[in-house]
Amino acid sequence: MNYRSALDIILQEFYKICEIPHPSHHEEQIGAYLFQWAKDHGLAVTKDRLGDIIIEKPAAPGCEASPRVILQAHMDMVCVAAEGVSFDPLRDPIKVINDGKILRADGTSLGADDGIGVALCLYILQDNTLRHGPLRVIFTVNEEDGMASIDMPAEHLDGDYLVNLDWEWLGSLCNSAAGCDFIRFRREAKWEAVSPDDTAIEVTLKGLQGGHSGVGINLGRANALVCVASALSRLAESGIPVKVTAFSGGQAKNAIPAAAQATVLVPTALSQQALQLLKDYEQDFVSAFGEKEPSYLYDVAVQEAHSVQQCLGVEISKSLLGLLVTLPNGVNTMSPFVPSLVESSQNLGLLTVGPAEIALEAMERSCVNYRAEEILRASRLIGELFGFTYEQGDHAPAWGVNPHSKLVPLTCDVYREITGKDMVVEPVHGGLECGAFFEKNPCLDMIAIGPSLTDVHSPDETCDIESVAVTAELITKILGRLV
Ligand SMILES: [Zn+2]
Repeated sequence: MNYRSALDIILQEFYKICEIPHPSHHEEQIGAYLFQWAKDHGLAVTKDRLGDIIIEKPAAPGCEASPRVILQAHMDMVCVAAEGVSFDPLRDPIKVINDGKILRADGTSLGADDGIGVALCLYILQDNTLRHGPLRVIFTVNEEDGMASIDMPAEHLDGDYLVNLDWEWLGSLCNSAAGCDFIRFRREAKWEAVSPDDTAIEVTLKGLQGGHSGVGINLGRANALVCVASALSRLAESGIPVKVTAFSGGQAKNAIPAAAQATVLVPTALSQQALQLLKDYEQDFVSAFGEKEPSYLYDVAVQEAHSVQQCLGVEISKSLLGLLVTLPNGVNTMSPFVPSLVESSQNLGLLTVGPAEIALEAMERSCVNYRAEEILRASRLIGELFGFTYEQGDHAPAWGVNPHSKLVPLTCDVYREITGKDMVVEPVHGGLECGAFFEKNPCLDMIAIGPSLTDVHSPDETCDIESVAVTAELITKILGRLV
């Protein structure tokens, strides 16, 4: 098969997929289509309880004893329409525009993420000239809005190698993704009356860069919540009792807080000393973060006494500040295998001090489960020491770097043969379905690759056509080498 005719087949398959509505949570139609497609091609096919479609293609003659390779792509897409475009994702087809170089859709997202991965698999399944061992193709449901494969039955994954086709740049290969856990600390807010002998001081830090708690965690940015807590902790360290009356900061558990604000009460006799200590904090902040946070605004001000109605007690205030300054925050470990890859991190993302309770939400990410457990254990113990309850929420598993992978160097070799260029091996401090697969079968040797897409999840999404042909050649040659 030459790769021009392979490309024609892949594009024809992709166009058919685009005619079937397949937004996340609505994969019944596309699943039924792929199920029937396999039957029509004489291939064994099953549908699991989640709706995943699993297709088996027997080994080419003489290759029966070769290791099993699994190809995998997700069936769902993120449907987005441009402003003014009327589009019903449950009924309307995606109208593909092919200008000879680029695929795009007419007014909507294209769904090359991950429809082009599905089409690549359909080509491999129907080309009977290819040399490969036993082959399994898994089409998953709902990757985009919940990572449903976390619940996939483990028996689907009893293979030796897995090629995930949900990566968005040809010339790059992903070999590791982070898992994550959402955690929350809570404590009842017990309020006390304000003493006439106290003075209220407000501390504000804002204008920080903030940003994504995964890919932005190693950029040296300041966490506004932790910084304000650090400034206030200096008062207690100097023997000044502190009572918190208000404290808030952050917008989401997976974003680095760019602003935080706290109001505290201190004994009026010590208020000048307290003000000085808080003002002195700014110099230390600048020496630590000034380069990275040029737009910061730090302010310390005495507040009108009557503006404060109630406060938390000294002990609970001390516990809250203690929690914020001792919990793991920021980069925890760097990968010993991959230079400059963050292996594990945590972000203290959102603090609210409400009338009834104090709540702090955080997100831990790690590509090594051991490190995740380490951070979660420390977080739980610290939370409990400071009198907070600890809750663990949603979890997505990690996919760690496999330093003994055969598939990674083999793929890089094949790519160099085809293009004359070196492939970039890129672990990501974010999530991929491979994490769910790795948890079910840690022996699977996996990579994520794919053609070049831009602006996925938007009406500007494109797919580079030439990169689809090269990806098809890459996959077929990888399969041939694994025989
Ligand atoms: Zn995707």
